Amino acid sequence: MTGAIPSMATLGILAALPDEIRDLLYEMGPAASTRRIGMRDYHHGVLYGRPCVLALTRIGKVAAAATTATLLREFDVDRVVFTGVAGGLDARLRVGDVVVGSALVQHDLDASPLFPRHEVPLLQTSRFPADEALAGLLHRCAGEFLAQHGGGAALHRGLIATGDRFVHEAGFARELREALPEALCVEMEGAAVAQVCHEFGVPCAVLRTISDCADQDAPVDFATFLREVASVYSAGILRRFLAALPA
Ligand code: SAH
Repeated sequence: MTGAIPSMATLGILAALPDEIRDLLYEMGPAASTRRIGMRDYHHGVLYGRPCVLALTRIGKVAAAATTATLLREFDVDRVVFTGVAGGLDARLRVGDVVVGSALVQHDLDASPLFPRHEVPLLQTSRFPADEALAGLLHRCAGEFLAQHGGGAALHRGLIATGDRFVHEAGFARELREALPEALCVEMEGAAVAQVCHEFGVPCAVLRTISDCADQDAPVDFATFLREVASVYSAGILRRFLAALPA
């Protein structure tokens, strides 16, 4: 759905990989305008009646932070949603399940003994909470989507761990579970986006579909899932979210 951009709040939608937003980008249609800044394309248009800016962060914390800062400074974005896939850490999680982040932590940030492990130096926190209203609405929309199309997949809400590492060895996954027992899943961008949004005072939320279980099968599971399911889930959940979002 496309059209003139009305003067209402603009939502930033970020993802790391093309498959994660392919369908949404297509739905923005030819009326979207694209600006290229710092090797990223920012697509500005309308989705389901909402002004949106859609961009790919690429993979990892630096890439995600740089893209988020540009999104907030160059476009009049006043809320941000990140959508993508993640590896399950909690034993209850299955491939296809959906996680809505309640908070985000950088599992590989460790300035101890100067600061407690995981704490972001000078910000006095290790966890960036997701915006309650955005995360609540994402949770509701994900629940509705899964009830219709999820084939038994479950919905979870909790801590998401972020770091610059694709986790595919059981040993490292175990270390992560020990260090952060309440973390539901692991990915490579969410906490970076949440930190930048926190620093700019912009509400954000993170939605992750479980593509693998952060073990030795992760590389294969990840690739298949990304191709076949990730984009459908992202688009299906975000469509509902956009339609329900208050102006
Ligand atoms: N070779 C892959 C690399 C993707 S890295 C490719 O380019 O196709 C994995 C991406 O998915 C990251 O953006 C990360 O946020 C997420 N992810 C999925 N499973 C993950 C896992 N087990 N560990 C860390 N990140 C994971």
